[in-house]
Amino acid sequence: MGRAQLLTTVSEFLPRDHGHFINGQRRSGSGTRRPVVDPASGKRIAEVHDGGAAEVTAAMAAAQAAFNGEWAATPTLARGNLLLKLAAALEAHREELAQLETLCSGKTIALSRGLELDQSVAFLRYFAGWAGKINGETLAVSIPPFADEKYRAFTVREPLGVVVGILPWNFSIMIAVWKFAAALICGNTVVLKPSEYTPLTLLRLAELANEVGFPPGTLNVVNGDGQVLGPLLIAHPACGKVSFTGSMKTGRVVGDAASQRGIPVTLELGGKNAALFLDDLSVEEMVDGIMEAGYLNQGQICSSAERFYLPAGKLDAVLQALSLRLAALKPDSPLDDDCLLGPLANAPHLEKVQGLIAAAQQDGDRLVFGGTRPAGEGYYLLPAAIAARSADSAIMQQETFGPVGAFLAWQQEEQALQWINDSPYGLSASVWTHDLSKALRYSEGIQAGTVWINMHNILDPALPFGGIKGSGNGREFGSAFIQDYTRLKSVMMRY
Ligand code: NAD
Repeated sequence: MGRAQLLTTVSEFLPRDHGHFINGQRRSGSGTRRPVVDPASGKRIAEVHDGGAAEVTAAMAAAQAAFNGEWAATPTLARGNLLLKLAAALEAHREELAQLETLCSGKTIALSRGLELDQSVAFLRYFAGWAGKINGETLAVSIPPFADEKYRAFTVREPLGVVVGILPWNFSIMIAVWKFAAALICGNTVVLKPSEYTPLTLLRLAELANEVGFPPGTLNVVNGDGQVLGPLLIAHPACGKVSFTGSMKTGRVVGDAASQRGIPVTLELGGKNAALFLDDLSVEEMVDGIMEAGYLNQGQICSSAERFYLPAGKLDAVLQALSLRLAALKPDSPLDDDCLLGPLANAPHLEKVQGLIAAAQQDGDRLVFGGTRPAGEGYYLLPAAIAARSADSAIMQQETFGPVGAFLAWQQEEQALQWINDSPYGLSASVWTHDLSKALRYSEGIQAGTVWINMHNILDPALPFGGIKGSGNGREFGSAFIQDYTRLKSVMMRY
């Protein structure tokens, strides 16, 4: 164990003239150079040219040509095989991509390796396994025939065209994989728009896709300002579907733009996810659960819990024990193998999270631990625990997307269930107890796309993932993704 030494491939990649990846080629472009900043130091590590109308037109045209041409002509098993080859390439370049991801996002190197890369490989293999299995059905025709004619009817699943994938900064490889692997295995082609803060890893991944043999134009990457590129991409006539992951605010704009064009849209948005702890657990068990549910990757996981409901008799003891656990998370370089506390991902995000903590204190919520910046460079923030004044406190309602747990005591479990559901969001939740019968009952009552029992944040490619209410619509993974990335055509014949 020690600190990851930057690979030569990484140090040589950073100073390149970065821009986009279009039609199987790197393209630097002529737009404004946007700095890429290492959140651990606050220093510029690379620059990327912003794209504009020219890059959008080129990427969409390339994707449409591939959709009608080489990708359409690629047999479905060969498509699956290319995803398998890309999975192998990601394994071979695991350390290189993990280092790039850590440098851009501040994610600890252990998480970049174990979550971004290893999970991405697993998801690529899962989607590859769908090759040849995305089918319609043969239907029994029920109308009475005229004369002695007969009918035969069946459905086929067709791809939607060019899928535009718009991405957040928190898991820049993994969330991209969810979108492009699902889209490609269904026969679509893809244009990805990474976050302005994490533009580099997908450029490298697109090069690897090209090297393993994806036809030019199947997987394109356009970088730049979301408010400029987003509307251009969605309005482009070749755009057959939008898959967006990001905040509720931007998601609404994206949803409106897509519905004005009448194209399908998947929205994976934010959450104010709850964790309910029942009284049969020990204080230590509760603290273990809270650490898992709320503080991984500095809370910058869309499904992380941010509001915790605990039995009144144990709240103080849990907050005391939790404070000790949080105090043991020492800020360190995220390139250190043992780092448990990296920086937040970017300066505006740090400012936003600090603002929400300050507002909570002004509102009368009690800051029990953390929430301050340690000395030194970078966008570090000590993880915070806040005892909320009431269920209506803003800190129990608004997403922070940071290392901020808000805690409230319940006197009766049913009251907690009401509080959990009294939220504009519905992405995920967890119930913690040894009483599995109770846990299952709560899983039925909680309004969320995913409910975990005695665990949190673990995603499996076989299990559909997505939100309800303000957290979005559509489902990624499982067999559910097929509905989102294909359309049904009905065929009927007389004989
Ligand atoms: P964001 O909404 O600010 O940005 C997301 C993407 O949208 C970026 O690529 C951005 O450039 C682009 N964008 C900005 N304006 C646009 C516009 N007008 N049209 C089209 N695209 C536009 O979100 P973020 O800060 O990058 O990510 C954090 C948010 O993402 C949090 O709310 C988090 O909960 C959510 N998130 C959700 C999931 C999920 O699966 N549900 C996963 C990860 C993150």
